[in-house]
Amino acid sequence: MHELAVCQAMLEQVAGIAAREQASEVTRIIVRIGPLSGVVPELLEQAFTIARSGTIANQAELITEATGIRVRCSQCGAETDAGITRMICGKCGDYRTQLLSGDELLLASVELNRAEQAVE
Ligand SMILES: [Zn+2]
Repeated sequence: MHELAVCQAMLEQVAGIAAREQASEVTRIIVRIGPLSGVVPELLEQAFTIARSGTIANQAELITEATGIRVRCSQCGAETDAGITRMICGKCGDYRTQLLSGDELLLASVELNRAEQAVE
């Protein structure tokens, strides 16, 4: 499962942050997922429940936030929202656009337990 590999890479990143912050536990992980990232949020959440066991994030909650698709038009320069199958300029309708966002998979925030305070 593709999402499991994604989860494992994400958990390695989280473990690095937890070690740097000297955390005893990770309580929440928030990721931003673009519709063009190739990752399905529901499958990522399922994979997470498998991947987290035995890690510092064993008790952590995973929150996925969907992001939108934005494109910049190479003809009129406008930056507009676009759809997965219609990446055209929202202003002039030209198809020659450049993707600005929508393919990202970002670790947005990690909440940790260090003594008793949470760190963003
Ligand atoms: Zn345009």
